[in-house]
Amino acid sequence: MSSNKHKFNIPEEVINTSAVLSSAGFENFLVGGCVRDLLLERDPKDWDLTTNATPVEIEALFEHTFYENDYGTVGVVVDPPASPSEAWRAGSARVVEVTPYRTESKYSDFRRPDEVAWAKTLEEDLKRRDFTVNALAYDIANQKLTDLFDGGADLKKKLIRTVGNPDERFGEDALRILRALRFASELGFAIESETLASIEKNKGLLAHISKERIKDEFIKIVASPAPSIALGLATQLGILEYITPEFTKGIGMEQNQAHAFTVWEHLLRSLDHAAKKDFPLHVRLAALFHDIAKPHTRKWLNEQWTFYGHDVVGARITRNVMTELKFPKEIMEKVIKLVRWHMFFSETETITLSAVRRVVRNVGPELIWDLMNVRACDRVGTGRPKETTYRLRKYHSMIEEVMRDPISVKQLNVTGGDIMKVSDTPPGPHIGYILEILLSEVLEDPTLNERKHLESRIFALMTLTPEELEKQGKAARAKNASEDEEEVEKIKEKYKVE
Ligand code: ATP
Ligand code: MG
Repeated sequence: MSSNKHKFNIPEEVINTSAVLSSAGFENFLVGGCVRDLLLERDPKDWDLTTNATPVEIEALFEHTFYENDYGTVGVVVDPPASPSEAWRAGSARVVEVTPYRTESKYSDFRRPDEVAWAKTLEEDLKRRDFTVNALAYDIANQKLTDLFDGGADLKKKLIRTVGNPDERFGEDALRILRALRFASELGFAIESETLASIEKNKGLLAHISKERIKDEFIKIVASPAPSIALGLATQLGILEYITPEFTKGIGMEQNQAHAFTVWEHLLRSLDHAAKKDFPLHVRLAALFHDIAKPHTRKWLNEQWTFYGHDVVGARITRNVMTELKFPKEIMEKVIKLVRWHMFFSETETITLSAVRRVVRNVGPELIWDLMNVRACDRVGTGRPKETTYRLRKYHSMIEEVMRDPISVKQLNVTGGDIMKVSDTPPGPHIGYILEILLSEVLEDPTLNERKHLESRIFALMTLTPEELEKQGKAARAKNASEDEEEVEKIKEKYKVE
């Protein structure tokens, strides 16, 4: 055991929470990910204190608290915000998580502990933690680090190593296998060799782990800076099938000449590009899933492999896999759409404005730029030459063109029906003329798009002769159309395309 003095930058609210516990006579230490991250000079995601106080004793010391999970963790809200709903969530920076000392308890179904077992000492609590780098504790008041398992040395060596015997630790909770891979990706660490050998030996235990827990670690892997570290290890070690067997089907699968890589390697490279660009989770998942159906649709045709329909089938497989992993519906629907339409911009010759309009309608305006990003990941992941910037600008310009609000009489605060009512006239060409005239006036001065004013203009226009109204109406229509063209020209100019 080694202990030494360290000084860290710790938020005041965290220091205060610790001080309140100390003044009440309770031991307390920062522990887990935050201590690891402080030593690595990374920003901790959340702040965890471990203590010899019980949940009831913790609750009694603070004004705003909530129970966070079944493990006795008390969330202490250190800065109650104006709107309560936003901070009463786990993981908020405004919450310090305080957990009583625990010890390893039995996992008879390999899934979750049968009961939460409290411990008396810090040492017992640190012993039940997964990896040495996650088993460091820090006494804030005394600036003293407790490092019972040489976690500090492993941090320097960039190693993930279990606390104690790896076979026992993975036997207690096989999720730790995925956690080891996750930390390898998040921290860019290697897995120490005995730990690695034990992972390979015990991987079958992952079959007992609930899909929710697997999904949570899988999400963290995908959200990490280099997901292919964890997923590459999972490939080598035969662990992918415990996330989903669908991932294993593309391993080693050759594609046609346009592809330098096998299906699975291409998906990993696409995902890594999404991570490199720091794209949001649904884009990363779409990058990983976009060719998931290639193994299902591969056919040898005219001297090459074809994958017709892999986008359509891929959307279905994505739905099945994400449902099985119990992903939230909202993110799942986004990923499915992106997978379904990922081929759109690859058929370069057939991309017309009306085709772009259709795809915008299909994926939705809120996802169209994400679709372009998935396409970028796809291309980079193929190792194909970069898109000519002209073509890319052209697509962007077309998307913006179909997404703009076209100039139309629909923008007016009166309709043709209103005109008939106000003027007490039956339908006829004069309605269209009046609308076009009103629109040209409103385009000139948007403040005129006001009901009362428009009604008085309708009265005035009705006093014109039919011939005069037709003349003015046609002139207004031509002018409105040219304004619309000007809008399109502006977009094209912005993207420097024809
Ligand atoms: P992150 O920064 O991603 O939150 P973390 O290390 O805080 O990383 P958590 O999943 O939040 O990871 O867990 C907090 C701590 O609890 C870990 O550092 C570890 O000490 C312990 N821990 C979490 N899950 C397990 C587990 N399955 N087995 C043993 N210890 C665990
Ligand atoms: Mg954490």
